Amino acid sequence: MKKVAIGVDIGGTSVRLGVVDERGKIVLRENFSTKDYPGRPALLNRLSSGILCLALEARKRQFQITGVGIGAPGPIDVERGFVYFFPNIPGWKNTPLKKILERKFKMKVFVDNDANAMALGEYRFGAGRGSKNMIALTLGTGIGGGIVLGGKLFHGTRFSAAEIGHLKINEDGPLCACGNHGCIEAYIGNGYFVREVQKRLKAKAKSILHEWLREGKELTPKLVQDAARTGDLFSKKMWEEAGSHLGTALAGLVDILNPDRIVIGGGIALGGEMIFGPIRRTIAKKAFPIAARSAKVMPAKLGADAGLVGAAALALT
Ligand SMILES: [Zn+2]
Repeated sequence: MKKVAIGVDIGGTSVRLGVVDERGKIVLRENFSTKDYPGRPALLNRLSSGILCLALEARKRQFQITGVGIGAPGPIDVERGFVYFFPNIPGWKNTPLKKILERKFKMKVFVDNDANAMALGEYRFGAGRGSKNMIALTLGTGIGGGIVLGGKLFHGTRFSAAEIGHLKINEDGPLCACGNHGCIEAYIGNGYFVREVQKRLKAKAKSILHEWLREGKELTPKLVQDAARTGDLFSKKMWEEAGSHLGTALAGLVDILNPDRIVIGGGIALGGEMIFGPIRRTIAKKAFPIAARSAKVMPAKLGADAGLVGAAALALT
């Protein structure tokens, strides 16, 4: 009998559900828009009917369901599967999600933070495969992070570990969304990157971007990436700087955790070697040599499915 788990990736804009097999393959999937179900009762109902449909279909195909894994966007008590709140979805304060769903489905339910789920997905089925101690990062508006130590997600005392985006690299640095200054997220998040490019372009940096913006193109990390690909020195330098900032933060983690793999995905990670090059060089320069040499820096493999596959992996035992 084929073993599968049901994975649920709850996001601020959409909820993805899927049946995932032991090799990390999504056998069945479904998604819906979070905003179509405002308020906790509506979203819980929709979530439950989605899980039920997938479970019925999986059983019809003679799969053995090991449980339900949920990746959710906020602070979670992982042991109790208890949601403290969701920053971008109102109405979920203090929700015993695991208890509610286990009662309903008579299946084991696991709940974890979405960044941890993503990290676990990459670890089990993506770029982290075969590693033992892995750091995973997702770069977007913010930075999500997860840490696997000795083959297990590291949660810390109250499950709030791995907030890698808020590692401080400069005590007087730019203001971060968390209210602090100098967090790596404030340097690498899409917002800061684009603002910084804009600022320097206004200060008359020489770049092909001036021309493209006059043509009406929108300034995004992708546009800066395209410009760098044409050989634009200014854009190349912006990527070099971003990579160097991130490399500095990672060098600190490399010295502390001595990981064998660092997996980076999302948004500006699409810059490829333009950003991976300076990240690797900075780690090599700033971390202790033994630790730096053992840490392989790789792009994430699972893309937008990492959260869903990782959520299922929570329940694939
Ligand atoms: Zn911060």
